[in-house]
Amino acid sequence: MTTTIDQLFNVSDFVTEEEREWQLKARDFAQTKIKPIIDQAFEDRRLPVELLPEVGEFGAFGMYMNGYGLKGASSVAYGLVAMEFEAVDSGFRTALSVQGSLAMGAIYKFGSEEQKQEWLPKMGRGEAIGFFGLTEPQGGSDPNTMLTHARREGDQWVLNGKKRWIGLATIAQVGVIWAKDEEGIVRGFVVPTDTPGFTATAIENKLSMRASLQTEIVLEDVRLPLDAILPGSKGLSSPFKCLNEARYGIAWGVMGAARACLEVAVERSQTREVFGAPIGSKQIIQAKLADMFVEYEKGLLLALHLGRLKDAGNLSYGQISVGKLNNVREAIKIAGTCRSILGGDGITSDFPVMRHMANLESVRTYEGTDEVHQLVIGRELTGIAAF
Ligand SMILES: Cc1cc2nc3c(=O)[nH]c(=O)nc-3n(C[C@H](O)[C@H](O)[C@H](O)COP(=O)(O)OP(=O)(O)OC[C@H]3O[C@@H](n4cnc5c(N)ncnc54)[C@H](O)[C@@H]3O)c2cc1C
Repeated sequence: MTTTIDQLFNVSDFVTEEEREWQLKARDFAQTKIKPIIDQAFEDRRLPVELLPEVGEFGAFGMYMNGYGLKGASSVAYGLVAMEFEAVDSGFRTALSVQGSLAMGAIYKFGSEEQKQEWLPKMGRGEAIGFFGLTEPQGGSDPNTMLTHARREGDQWVLNGKKRWIGLATIAQVGVIWAKDEEGIVRGFVVPTDTPGFTATAIENKLSMRASLQTEIVLEDVRLPLDAILPGSKGLSSPFKCLNEARYGIAWGVMGAARACLEVAVERSQTREVFGAPIGSKQIIQAKLADMFVEYEKGLLLALHLGRLKDAGNLSYGQISVGKLNNVREAIKIAGTCRSILGGDGITSDFPVMRHMANLESVRTYEGTDEVHQLVIGRELTGIAAF
């Protein structure tokens, strides 16, 4: 008798019925809607945008926020949804994070009531797509070097600057641009993408996250009304609060990618015969599978623990860094080892493993690189900022 990856430590033993329902619904959506088209989308370097309204209908955008037609689900439920989406492709899960945790998250946390009423319901339904523009070409790890600035001119804000790597901006109707005001304080601005002076161009030459959309933005004298500012935003801690929401989702999401790779490797080890026997009958292969499974389970339980802390309002930045750093790092190791178990076939698109490997390199980089999270944890431990 064999035990499936889902069964040995069944995460559903530890979640509520409602959370489990979200997971099963998300698994069904991911497996029936995203999976059949994802290889071609990756090949074509195309985000399957046609699915975004369906994600809205499903209710996943901003699903852990309350009011504005949003679902008010738990953070654990959201994590399970992110995991199921990323079990198919990290790029598609990234669209969920950008729209929900980052763009909607910024408006939800720092917006005026009018801004929330205007944007959150339609973004939740997927009828409006949003972006989150923080990173600039001169280095994403240190957003304090931000050059994008906003100056007051009469009853307008005038924005100038450049952003790089911004998800969804070429298809978005609206986005949050982070810019320094005349006092050098970072503030968020709600920018409709049809505002004159705003241009976004897709980054086309990616070898990772190909079924995803990242862009460069240029802001040239973008004129906005005074009430375009997110009134609650002040300083870099504001975008960081949104990033932490997304980092939390990543800690779950990458375990989906790891699970998908493991499932393929286990199956292959049972069916692929070399030296007259299934490779799974070799102790070295079993040792690899066992070690990967242990890391997968540890990562999943860590994500669940973070989710419970988050729902209780007790999740710290340091804890989120532990989850993001560990789970992405282990998912990358798992994907690489699974690839080796598949042999030559593992480098083809007959299996999803190489696509997950490539995608996970992006996930390692965005929302804080390994080094940035090591420095966050190091600061927690020593009290010394070593950035
Ligand atoms: C697919 C993808 C999607 C993204 N989506 C968005 C988005 O929607 N919105 C957005 O605003 N941004 C987005 N980003 C940007 C992302 O957050 C940045 O790429 C990330 O912060 C790293 O910045 P960088 O690429 O400029 O690397 P750099 O900051 O140039 O870092 C290069 C290397 O130097 C290391 N390093 C930097 N500082 C230190 C230090 N003090 N000590 C030790 N090592 C250090 C880094 O860890 C890294 O290994 C996205 C990026 C990618 C790849």
